[in-house]
Amino acid sequence: MKVTEIMDKRSAFSFEVFPPKTDVGMEKLCSEGGVLDQLCTLKPDYISCTYGAGGTNVGKQVPVLDRIKTAGTTPLAHFTCIGNTREGMRDQLKNYLDHGINHILALRGDLPFGWTGTGGDLHYATELVKFVRDEFGDKFTIGVAGSPEGHIACRSIEADISFLKQKQDNGADFIMTQLCWDMDQFRWWMDAIRDAGITLPVDVGIMPVLDAAATINMALSRNGCVMPRALAEIISKHWIFPNPFAPNESEESIKQKKADFKEAGLEYTIKLIDEYRVCGISGIHLYALNKFDDVARLVRESGIKDL
Ligand code: FAD
Repeated sequence: MKVTEIMDKRSAFSFEVFPPKTDVGMEKLCSEGGVLDQLCTLKPDYISCTYGAGGTNVGKQVPVLDRIKTAGTTPLAHFTCIGNTREGMRDQLKNYLDHGINHILALRGDLPFGWTGTGGDLHYATELVKFVRDEFGDKFTIGVAGSPEGHIACRSIEADISFLKQKQDNGADFIMTQLCWDMDQFRWWMDAIRDAGITLPVDVGIMPVLDAAATINMALSRNGCVMPRALAEIISKHWIFPNPFAPNESEESIKQKKADFKEAGLEYTIKLIDEYRVCGISGIHLYALNKFDDVARLVRESGIKDL
């Protein structure tokens, strides 16, 4: 079943994983009884697998997607324009279909450091959506990225929303959002895209707040997200970075702070899920970070799914 058909009926719920860089990582994720099998016990509507940033580490993506399919869940492939020719994209997309993978997230892709463009034949996700529709008709269900705070390099939020509308006009089926912790901004953006004539279902991407360094890195290094006061307070309360006032902090103390941060972060993420669910969205997409226990706790404690 297409994920958009599910979204027509009820809110969808899904996970995101990434292609491991090592054989050990692959074993942990894809082996019998491994993380993917465990995630499937939570009955997600689909599981997506990212496409290596800068076109790297793409090699393991298809085996991961194959494994999602054999585990009994719909696989969704993230796919980018980075370094890809039209011919190369045609081959990769055909290969997805040969593997029974007919859901993609059509992205421009993160530009590798120092690059000023995609280094490929297509420059924007708008063009990629058009390419996939022109070449493959309705064979793919196509998701596209939406940025509630505006993409970090957009010339204005209005321009960004206009390009999102263009993705819809070119044949996109649903929107998956970039990280956004600023709920006032999110609600503003939902109204703004509807005012702009964008009717696509919105699937909200949520990175669980589990680790202070990863949270700061995801928010600030690539996306420039606004960090709300409540989240900044959690990071401050459990500060583990170089601290001139506690230069000799023990390993034990840092370990405890990390554990306390995770507890506070899980609680924060559950409240965030609650807030999103009353904003007229069509799905929650949780970054599983190739782990099971923490996201399983989130699913159970948030009540997002009747298990
Ligand atoms: P676009 O929609 O093409 O937008 C890029 C910029 O160009 C924006 O500033 C936009 O305003 C502007 N723009 C768009 N169209 C036009 C146009 N026609 N003319 C002029 N300007 C235009 N990256 C990866 O490498 N691998 C992944 O697996 C991956 N997964 C992601 C999953 C999600 C849910 C999200 C939200 C992002 C993901 N990314 C991934 C990151 C994404 O590739 C980056 O955010 C990238 O910088 C922009 O991608 P996009 O599809 O939003 O680009």
